[in-house]
Amino acid sequence: MVKRDYYEILGVSRNASEEEIKKSYRKLALKYHPDRNPGNKEAEEKFKEAAEAYEVLRDPEKRSLYDRFGHEGLRGTGFSGFTGFDDIFSSFSDIFSDFFGFGTSTRSRSRTSAQAGADLRYDLSISFLDAAFGKDTEIEINKLERCTTCRATGLKPGTSPAICPYCQGRGESTRSQGFFTMSSTCSYCRGEGQIINDPCPDCRGKGRVRRKKRLSVKIPPGVESGSRLRLRAEGEEGVNGGPRGDLYIFIYVEPHEFFQRQGNDIICQIPISFPQAALGAEIEVPTLNGNKKVTIPKGIQSGEVVYLKGEGIPYLRGGGRGDQIIQVMVKTPTKMTKRQEELLREFAQEEEHSSKEKGWSLWRH
Ligand SMILES: [Zn+2]
Ligand SMILES: [Zn+2]
Repeated sequence: MVKRDYYEILGVSRNASEEEIKKSYRKLALKYHPDRNPGNKEAEEKFKEAAEAYEVLRDPEKRSLYDRFGHEGLRGTGFSGFTGFDDIFSSFSDIFSDFFGFGTSTRSRSRTSAQAGADLRYDLSISFLDAAFGKDTEIEINKLERCTTCRATGLKPGTSPAICPYCQGRGESTRSQGFFTMSSTCSYCRGEGQIINDPCPDCRGKGRVRRKKRLSVKIPPGVESGSRLRLRAEGEEGVNGGPRGDLYIFIYVEPHEFFQRQGNDIICQIPISFPQAALGAEIEVPTLNGNKKVTIPKGIQSGEVVYLKGEGIPYLRGGGRGDQIIQVMVKTPTKMTKRQEELLREFAQEEEHSSKEKGWSLWRH
């Protein structure tokens, strides 16, 4: 199908101003509007054609491409016309909402008055061990919920809404200007067409009430400070049938007196004696799952580490656990018995004999 010239479609000259283009498009949109031409295929095509032409000519960049290269020039812009009426109505909502008073306005009205509920945030502190292993807990939040007294209608039970006296239920006020009838949303009923004379006593006509709600929360193993859990549709109730918001739980993990966390590994420091470091030893260390035996290799230096594989924090997405990293701190004895001191002096003498160097090489071999 050969595409018609956009200027020809809108019936404007090639140097028409933005205002002229807009005016001309309004006129055509009004004439071929689907609500005025139900079932008329030709009008439908003309309506779509005009929208496409307007979409291009109202945009200076697209217009200049079109002026220079014709329809071909628009290929690179990603512009490909419209998929349907709703697409057109939402693209030019400025025109359709202030301008047309019929048909489309019921569509756009229900769209604008339905509002999604707000998302909520809850800050939750948990212990180091709960973060490691997960926990089922309960929280209490204060949020706007659907009013059950009026079933979110805002009406006092047993009453009905009244027709808006200003717009007689049409939801819009109209006035004439030139050829056209201008319509705008009725400000008294905010486009609803009806008003509530007897509001629901519980929500005062709002359809939502603030309530405390207890929720159970499943904290998965492996969360860390800054992790965010999303509870779908546990935020605030929407307005006029809009969807509920979500609830986000922000996790804060309290520090542990003994363990530190580094990603999925946990780090701890264990004091050992000089003989244990020199001779090697088997010692017991606390882990997340109780005490475990660890072999300290002979000759370990203060500050060096040994690993307990798989004794760290579980990975949030499954697949095992990090490690426990044990850093040994060699304690220098401060109180010794006479015998211990004798032995240590003997040890030092032996060390001097066996070493060619003197002095600071006491712990070196
Ligand atoms: Zn209510
Ligand atoms: Zn009204």
